[in-house]
Amino acid sequence: MAKRLTGKVTLVTGASKGIGASIAAHFGAEGAKVVVNYASSKEGAEKVVKQITDAGGKAIAVQGDVSKEADVNKIFEETQKAFGGLDILVNNAGVFEYLPIEQVTADSFHRQFNVNVLGSIFAIQGALKLFGDKGGNIINISSGSSRTPIATGSVYSATNAALDAITIALYKEFSGRNIRINSLLPGAIETEGTHTNGFIGSEFEAQVIANTALGRIGQPEDIAKVAVFLASDEAGFVTGEQIFVSGGIFGL
Ligand code: NAP
Repeated sequence: MAKRLTGKVTLVTGASKGIGASIAAHFGAEGAKVVVNYASSKEGAEKVVKQITDAGGKAIAVQGDVSKEADVNKIFEETQKAFGGLDILVNNAGVFEYLPIEQVTADSFHRQFNVNVLGSIFAIQGALKLFGDKGGNIINISSGSSRTPIATGSVYSATNAALDAITIALYKEFSGRNIRINSLLPGAIETEGTHTNGFIGSEFEAQVIANTALGRIGQPEDIAKVAVFLASDEAGFVTGEQIFVSGGIFGL
């Protein structure tokens, strides 16, 4: 099969591990030139770059905390310098904290909103400058939890609902500019993040699997394959959508 993203310059935020790493690797395998952004996991980002370049693709790792405007500006400067523009932005960087409402602090609120929402806004603003007149493509990785929040997920779910609202506002705002924007909503996916927060192997994971039509937790590549589709010309008439990729979690 012909490669579907040949020559497309792509920035994937939070691509040093988990879903972002898989998206970056799949985009590289499809011929995209990939900017692998990370906040602190340099080693993870370099591993993803090596995977892409070892297979004959092009990729660079660029450090930057998406919640800091100056860092985001630096990420786009590096992208411009390395690849001369941008075609596709994947807003994947995200943090999740599950807390009973009594334990939600201003710090926890701001940490999640600053990375998941404000960081995505900064990245979209940077992408628009590099898209220029030719247009571009934005994929916001939000979460199925934006539609069916679970107990203790009030703030995290709210960040994803905010991101989905941004997708809807912007597909309209981008009318006539040849910019597609869609939300991709993963269900429960096995990543470094869901190992670290104790979800994988928990009683709750077993409950989720029992309530999932396809009877398993997702893997990062389940999301990456759909991200490739949304980034490619195969989805050339798709914009403003919210695509659930959950294996059919009941209630979504
Ligand atoms: P993960 O394994 O915890 O990885 C998170 C990635 O985001 C890492 O590469 C991390 O980089 C990066 N990151 C965090 N804060 C950042 C910042 N301020 N600036 C730049 N990068 C930052 O997460 P994941 O499970 O793959 O989740 C990825 C996305 O999918 C998130 O937006 C999450 O909300 C969404 N999602 C996940 C699931 C799931 O079940 N896993 C379900 C629904 C939605 P460093 O390692 O360098 O810090």
